[in-house]
Amino acid sequence: MNNELYWRLGFFISILAIMMLFEGLKPARKSTVTAKHRWLGNFGLVLISSVIARLTVPIGLTALAIYNTEQGIGLFNFIQIPLWLTIPFSILLLDMLIYWQHRLFHQIPLLWSLHKVHHADSHIDASTGLRFHPLEIVLSILIKLVAVTALGAPAIAILIFEIALNGFALFNHANIRLAKKPEQVLRFVVITQQLHRIHHSQLSNETNSNYGFSVIWWDKLFRSYKACATEDDTRLQVGLSQYPANKKNASIKTLLLMPFK
Ligand SMILES: [Zn+2]
Repeated sequence: MNNELYWRLGFFISILAIMMLFEGLKPARKSTVTAKHRWLGNFGLVLISSVIARLTVPIGLTALAIYNTEQGIGLFNFIQIPLWLTIPFSILLLDMLIYWQHRLFHQIPLLWSLHKVHHADSHIDASTGLRFHPLEIVLSILIKLVAVTALGAPAIAILIFEIALNGFALFNHANIRLAKKPEQVLRFVVITQQLHRIHHSQLSNETNSNYGFSVIWWDKLFRSYKACATEDDTRLQVGLSQYPANKKNASIKTLLLMPFK
C-alpha cells in the first residue's frame, strides 16, 4: 500500500493515453467546440476538484480502511471471512453503491444540480469521464468513506476498486466506436461507449438509463438498462439542451458556477 499513489497515477495516465490515442486515430463523433477549449475546462475542473478534495477531506479511503482493520471496525472486520472473499465482495458492493449513488444524483434535484456539470458537456470523450464538480467529488468521497467503514472493506479492495472505477470511466466515455461484433459481446458484461452515450443523450428517458460505470449487471438487475436510443449512435444528441455547444459553456468558470445558476 506504500506505492498507492504510483499505482493509481500509473494506471490513470496509461489508460487516459491509450484512450486519447484511439480517439485521435479514429474518433466516433465530431465536436463542434474545439478540443482545446473543452479540455481546458474539463482537465481544469479535474485539477481543481482534486485539490479541493485533498484540502477538505481529512483522510483517504485506504488509510481509513487500514485504521478500520486495526480497530476491528465494520462488517468484514467483525465477522471472520478470508481475505480472498472479502476483496471481491467489497468491490462488488462498492460498485453497486456507486450505481445507486449515480441514480440518486439523477433523481434528487439538488444532487442533479451538481451532477449536471458532468452531463452538460456538449461532446463526450475520455476527459468527460473525469469532469465532475468539486462538490460532487467531495460528496462522493464522503459517501465512500461511510460505506468503506460500514463494510470494513480491506484497503487492497479499495485500491483495486478505485483504479477500476477510474479506468472504466475513461473507457466508457472515450470517443471511440468498437466494431459491431466485439461490442455486442462486450456489452453482456461491461458498459460500452455506445451504451454510455445513451446515458448522455439529451432525452430524459435516455439519460435516466445505463447508470452503471463498469459492469452492466446493476442496470439489468434494477431495470434501468437501455440497449439502444431512438437515434443511432452517430446522430444521438448528447449533452443538455440548456447548455448549447460553445466556448463559453465549456469554460472552467461556467462549470464551477453551473450548480448555483
Ligand atoms: Zn450521469
